Amino acid sequence: MKYIVVLGDGMADEPLKELEGKTPLAYGATPVMDSLAQLGEMGMVKNVPKGMAPGSDTANLSVLGYDPELYYSGRSPLEALNIGVDMKEGDVAIRANLVTLSQEEENYEEKRILDHSADEITTEEAEILLEAVKKELENEIFQFYPGTSYRHCLIWKQGMTVPLTPPHDIRGKKIQEYLPEEPLLLKMQKKSYEILKDHPVNLARMEKGLNPGNSLWFWGAGTKPSLDSFEEKFHKKGAMISAVDLLKGIAVGTRMKNISVEGANGGLDTNYEGKADAALKALLEDDCDFVYVHVEAPDEMGHQGSIEKKIKAIEYLDGRVVGRIKEGMDASGEDYRMLVLPDHPTPISVKTHTANPVPYVLYDSRNQEKKEGLSYSEAEAQKTGKMVEKGHELIWHLLEK
Ligand SMILES: [Zn+2]
Repeated sequence: MKYIVVLGDGMADEPLKELEGKTPLAYGATPVMDSLAQLGEMGMVKNVPKGMAPGSDTANLSVLGYDPELYYSGRSPLEALNIGVDMKEGDVAIRANLVTLSQEEENYEEKRILDHSADEITTEEAEILLEAVKKELENEIFQFYPGTSYRHCLIWKQGMTVPLTPPHDIRGKKIQEYLPEEPLLLKMQKKSYEILKDHPVNLARMEKGLNPGNSLWFWGAGTKPSLDSFEEKFHKKGAMISAVDLLKGIAVGTRMKNISVEGANGGLDTNYEGKADAALKALLEDDCDFVYVHVEAPDEMGHQGSIEKKIKAIEYLDGRVVGRIKEGMDASGEDYRMLVLPDHPTPISVKTHTANPVPYVLYDSRNQEKKEGLSYSEAEAQKTGKMVEKGHELIWHLLEK
C-alpha cells in the first residue's frame, strides 16, 4: 500500500459574490478531485489548534501528524533547518522577508507595506540584496542566511522570541504600529531600507514594473525545534516534495527524504507535472511508502487577493498534480490511499490565513463504488457532518489500512 498527501496551501476559502456565492474551490473546474469525492470520503478537519496562530507551519505539522501544541517552536526555526543553519540551544531564528514598502513618505514609520513578497522576487536577486544587507548589518549576534525568493532567515545568537507581526497580515497598512518593539531589530529593519531602496537590483526591478525588495521585515521568531522521526513515529518511509523552506525544513526535522524538483518555485508557474512525477518516482521506484506533495500557489494567490489566479492555481493542482499522480498510480497497479486537502484557508476577502476547518477528501484505490453528484468543496465536505477535531489525528486515518 502506498500513501499520498497532496496539500493545496491556503486552498480553502469563503463564498464570494463574484463567484455566485461559491468558493474558488467549488467554482473552479476540478474534475479529478470531484471524482475522488465520489469514490472516497469527505469531511472537515481542524488543522490549527485553538489559540494558535493559523499558519502553514502549525497547520502542516498537523497534517503530517505532529501535534503543533507539542512540536511547534516557531516558524523560522523550521525553515532554518532547511537553509542549513546550525542552531544552538538559546539561539532564535527569525524570518526576514524582503518586502515592498511605499517610497514616497520621508519617515520609515509612515510607510505602508505594499507587498509582503516583493513580487515573489527571484532567489538570485534576493541573494544579491541580502549580501548587501549582510555587509552592513551582520555581526557576532546577528547573522543572515539566504533562503528562497523573498523568504530569508536571521539568527539571533542567544536571542529572545519577541512578538512580531507577519507582513502578509498587514498588506496596504501603515507600518508604524506593527514595527518590532525590540530596539535592535527595529534599528536593523530601518537600516535595511536605507541599504536596499536604491540598490541596482531594485532599480532594475522597478524599471520592469516589478515591486522592489526595499526593506527587510522580521517575524516568525522561534527556538530550535525537536521533531520525532517520521519513520519511527509512523513506520513508513516518507518523502517531501515542496518548493518552500518551511516544508523542506519540516522534512529535515522529521528525517523524511527531501525531493527537489526543478522549476518548483512556490508560485503560480511552478512545475506541477514535475512534482507529480517526482511523487510517482518516489513511490514506485525509490521504495518510499508515503509522499507529501505541497503546492504553495493557491495560498500566494489568496494573499494577492486574485480570485482568477486562485482558481487557476486550484485547477492546475487538480489536473496537473492530483490527476497526474492518480493516472500514474492507476497504471502501476499498486494499491494506494490519497488524501487531498489544504492546510488552512487563505480567503480572498481577508488576504490572509484563518483558523477555520478545511475540507479533505480521502480516496482509496480499492474502492470503486461511486456516489454520483458529489464534488470536492467546503460546502459539500461540511454537509457530510464529519469533523476531525484534532488535525494531527487525520494521518492515522490515512494510514489505517
Ligand atoms: Zn500563506
